[in-house]
Amino acid sequence: MSDCLFCKIVAGEIPSRKVYADDRIYAFHDIAPKAPTHVLVVPRRHIGRLADAGAADRELLGDVVAGAASVARDLGLEHYRLVINNGEGAGQTVFHLHVHLLGGRPMAWPPG
Ligand code: AMP
Ligand code: ZN
Repeated sequence: MSDCLFCKIVAGEIPSRKVYADDRIYAFHDIAPKAPTHVLVVPRRHIGRLADAGAADRELLGDVVAGAASVARDLGLEHYRLVINNGEGAGQTVFHLHVHLLGGRPMAWPPG
């Protein structure tokens, strides 16, 4: 998608601090971290939000979540949280599906 921030990051048109990449997913450090470790994991292919994902996207969603767990392992995180904000009211500000990987501090429950 031409005017999507994360599509541009995936394409290398906007710089990012890459953590992991393969042919399906891309992971990079959040520019405004909310925890000592805050990595975003995105599918390379544009999906606006989780609710836009269809049956054909199930494997890709698995890749994103498993990719986040793999990044957490590589970063030595034993305790961490994955977050997907779906829609503005839930806090989504960038409309390219992404999983937040947060770690390195205690996590309150429920989230605010
Ligand atoms: P969300 O609010 O769930 O849509 O998350 C969007 C995230 O993208 C926020 O945590 C932002 O800090 C992060 N973000 C925005 N612009 C950039 C950027 N250029 N590079 C890395 N992270 C970004
Ligand atoms: Zn996009």
